[in-house]
Amino acid sequence: MIEVLRLSHRIGRDPRLSTHVILTARAFGAEKVYYSGDHDKSLEDSTDKIVSNFGGPFEIEYVKNPLKLIDDKKKKGFQIVHLTMYGKNFEKLKLKKKVLVVVGSEKVEKEFYEICENISVGNQPHSEVAALGVLLYKFFGVKKKFMNPKIIIEGLEKGKKITKI
Ligand code: SAM
Repeated sequence: MIEVLRLSHRIGRDPRLSTHVILTARAFGAEKVYYSGDHDKSLEDSTDKIVSNFGGPFEIEYVKNPLKLIDDKKKKGFQIVHLTMYGKNFEKLKLKKKVLVVVGSEKVEKEFYEICENISVGNQPHSEVAALGVLLYKFFGVKKKFMNPKIIIEGLEKGKKITKI
């Protein structure tokens, strides 16, 4: 089971970035995203709309205290993997069955570094979306099957094939 925690969402920042973290998490097999920072109803509504159109299972939940969430998840046997350019090489990572992947936005407080397994996708600064996509792709690939979609896309080299159910 893969879940993702997106830290420090800010409504006024690039609003697309948290959406892209969420879309990437879903497309590569995560079943739930938690987010902290600003509570954002429109982020939740747009996630629910994607799930309703393209299928699930996938949930979004706001958390006020992300450190407490990590603590609770640890008690439930989750491995906590924090993506940061300062971490150890992701290619050496061994994943357990239940994983919470933590991604930051700007500065991540030192407490997170202390309680998580810090993993890097290269040691250059890039993006939480790229880091999450590469990590999930390596371990889980592209998710093929979603439940109860209203829209199914069949990939073609040219044109579009869209089935509405
Ligand atoms: N100085 C930050 C750091 O600790 O990685 C860079 C901030 S970056 C704009 C936002 C988020 O992207 C980070 O919190 C981290 O989750 C992710 N990220 C950026 N570069 C990464 C890398 N090379 N490996 C893993 N994650 C990365």
